Amino acid sequence: MKRPKITVVGSINMDLVTMTDQFPVQGETVRGSEFQTIPGGKGANQAVAAARLGADVTMIGCVGDDEFGEQLLSNLKREGINSGNVRRIQNTSSGLANIILSEQDNRIIIIGGANEHVSTDYLDQTKEAIINSDYVLLQFEIPKDTIMYCIELCHQYDIPLIVNPAPAMELPSEWWKKVTYVTPNETEHAQLFNGEQIESLIVTKGKGGAEFILDGKKQLMPAYNVKVVDTTGAGDTFNGALAVRLGEGNSLPEAVQFANAAAALSVQKMGAQAGMPTKEEVNRLIE
Ligand code: ADP
Repeated sequence: MKRPKITVVGSINMDLVTMTDQFPVQGETVRGSEFQTIPGGKGANQAVAAARLGADVTMIGCVGDDEFGEQLLSNLKREGINSGNVRRIQNTSSGLANIILSEQDNRIIIIGGANEHVSTDYLDQTKEAIINSDYVLLQFEIPKDTIMYCIELCHQYDIPLIVNPAPAMELPSEWWKKVTYVTPNETEHAQLFNGEQIESLIVTKGKGGAEFILDGKKQLMPAYNVKVVDTTGAGDTFNGALAVRLGEGNSLPEAVQFANAAAALSVQKMGAQAGMPTKEEVNRLIE
């Protein structure tokens, strides 16, 4: 089977995860129990998912000129992702997610940082990669004008495009018609489409699997029944896997089944990227 060329246009973040038994109240300082830096960002996560599944992946995104930028770039390279187009933005921090976790609760502050520099000009400069792709993957953690520009570019050059509309953000409704597939989770589906079904929608439903339209009819592909450790990155694994399978030329039901299997494997480990499976692992679950 041919190795599909997947280009991901999106965010690259470092997750700064602080674990604590107790959240500080205003003005208070408390001792936490543990701290970890974990590469994330929906764009980078989906790129890693697709690369592990055997695709030829190119990342279009920006990191800062800080130490995190260095680490995020090496992480992409270690995964075999083509990061020659990833730009380092001077005097800017990398995208960050400041995550405070306890058993009961989590609080998250996101800093866009270098992700805010993924501009329409930058897309123009990296257009070659985009228009030579079998599939493009796009999420909503970069500026809105860039998102719309990417949709327009893929539409113009007839490049298949999966838009994962996360975090949810409204687009003029006619824009969804330019997209090959839109992949909201149930919450984003309710927010953006009022729960309505359009032809290009693939709605992920957590342990309920994923719903899509085939020959005008709604179909449900059930999820795999697995023991869940951490669902962070389930959607990212699903999207990466979907792009790879469609890029290989498989049918939509086949691709959705494969994406469900890949995502089910990913929720069995802590962290978004850590649990992302290889193609062999997914095939073992499917057979
Ligand atoms: P997101 O992570 O974006 O919120 P979902 O929660 O809908 O998205 O999960 C995406 C996909 O991950 C689902 O369609 C399903 O294939 C898989 N998945 C998520 N949670 C589970 C689970 N508990 N068991 C099995 N598969 C799951």
